[in-house]
Amino acid sequence: MSYIGRFAPSPTGPLHAGSLVAALASWLDARAHQGHWLVRIEDVDRERCVPGAAPTILEQLARCGLHPDGVVVVQSRRDALYQQALDTLVAQGLAYPCACTRSDIAQALQAAGHDKPRHGELIYPGTCRTGLHGRAARAWRFRTDLAARTEARTHWTDHRLGPQAQDVSDQVGDFVLRRADGWFAYQLAVVVDDAAQGITHVVRGEDLADNTARQILLQRALNLPTPHYLHTPLVLGENGEKLSKQNGALPLDLQDPVHAIQLAAQVLSLTVPATELSETLRIATQLWAARWRSDR
Ligand SMILES: [Zn+2]
Repeated sequence: MSYIGRFAPSPTGPLHAGSLVAALASWLDARAHQGHWLVRIEDVDRERCVPGAAPTILEQLARCGLHPDGVVVVQSRRDALYQQALDTLVAQGLAYPCACTRSDIAQALQAAGHDKPRHGELIYPGTCRTGLHGRAARAWRFRTDLAARTEARTHWTDHRLGPQAQDVSDQVGDFVLRRADGWFAYQLAVVVDDAAQGITHVVRGEDLADNTARQILLQRALNLPTPHYLHTPLVLGENGEKLSKQNGALPLDLQDPVHAIQLAAQVLSLTVPATELSETLRIATQLWAARWRSDR
């Protein structure tokens, strides 16, 4: 199979208008390439997950005519795979245990005069790179400076956003691979699963674009292929931020799935006529293919 794409929702609630856009875009891109489209439930962050949300999401996708071409993968059942990847990184000196609490990190940053958070996240100052110094390990972190090797900036080309670059070590810092609560971090799980499922093309919302450089560094460190990336426009809520349950996204009205597909297609700049569902999806696929026609 030369194209395998995926939609990877977090089961934090039912699909809303914004998440349907990401689902539809990934499905259209797979169809336009005569590829496979897989669904993966990203439930590593257990605290954010809502019981019953995953089956609801799958039901909603089915009502919209979006059917996965394979078994639905659930991240919370795949810890053994993630541990294997972590072990590989540890063996290469690219992962290390960290004893720092959030307030340890805040204090160290303040002492160094770098306490400006990035997207609300503190940039880890690298305290435990030299060892735990008698403290107990809490989390495992990725050694971003060594992973970046000779070039500080990680470069990639997004099919919609164009050339991108990020100095992960400087702008993000040594990010967490396994959290203090024992769960594996999103970044590691995504990279392991994309490779395990043979994903060749990642089509997802633009809010996730910032994770791409981190994921590429992990792919390289684990000797895994880097997929193609296309980040789609977001649906914004009334406050101008990404539409989410927190800022008033209503659950999808699937009494009329064709209308829901039409609205999602509009965000992707596709004007799709309202006909019968499968015909609406067929036309949307043609329009998508025409819009993104290229040799990728
Ligand atoms: Zn630490």
